[in-house]
Amino acid sequence: MDINSSQMQDAPDDHHVDEDPRCTALRSALVAQLRHEDVADERVLAAMAVVPRHLFAPGHSYGAAYDNRPLPIGSGQTISQPLVVAWMAQAAELTDSDHVLEVGTGSGYGAAVLAELAQRVTSVERIVTLADNARWVLGQVGYDNVTVAVSNGTMGWPRGAPFDAIVVTAASPEVPDSLVDQLADGGRLVIPVGDRTSQQLVRVRRRGDEIVSENLGAVAFVPLIGEQGWDPD
Ligand code: SAH
Repeated sequence: MDINSSQMQDAPDDHHVDEDPRCTALRSALVAQLRHEDVADERVLAAMAVVPRHLFAPGHSYGAAYDNRPLPIGSGQTISQPLVVAWMAQAAELTDSDHVLEVGTGSGYGAAVLAELAQRVTSVERIVTLADNARWVLGQVGYDNVTVAVSNGTMGWPRGAPFDAIVVTAASPEVPDSLVDQLADGGRLVIPVGDRTSQQLVRVRRRGDEIVSENLGAVAFVPLIGEQGWDPD
């Protein structure tokens, strides 16, 4: 990725890991596939080309880590499919001055992709062990511009609001008002809305007092748990 000097202090230009060259090649193949699947935003593709997904999917082979599919990460949760991560990042229309809230840190992979595209990412996760692992891996790779907190993300992260973008990586029965309320003017909320098995990816945009919603297509996410989401069972 071509990172200019203003971005260098944010997203890492040189991930602090010795990488097997096979991973770089597998990521290039993945990016070619994403292009073929109509991910058109070059910044998003460049981010997907550098984030070491294999480090966020321990216990899986390099080949599996760079397959375009979700994988189990423990605690009954999954690391999202790369195509969906790219698609959501594209829908969030991020710029390198944005502050982004991610709801559902999971493995931390999505947060890393967002961190390549925005200035700062706050990511909230309800499961302590996942948040701890994600924080550790993000730190190892060098993402100093990501903060991971343990919290019920259906309520957003009021102390960090307003956000230029909010990306929710778990399925919600409806668009939580608390998240819309935390959007900055011009802000975008990207969230899967539907039942527990299938959803529509919805983008909600705030322009002054006007709130506009668009359906972007079908997706399948694990449920968003908690107030304004689903019950834990
Ligand atoms: N972005 C993640 C995807 C993880 S799957 C990745 O790249 O790996 C969705 C995550 O949302 C799960 O880890 C789940 O525990 C979390 N989650 C579900 N409900 C939540 C809530 N109310 N607040 C915060 N996190 C939640």
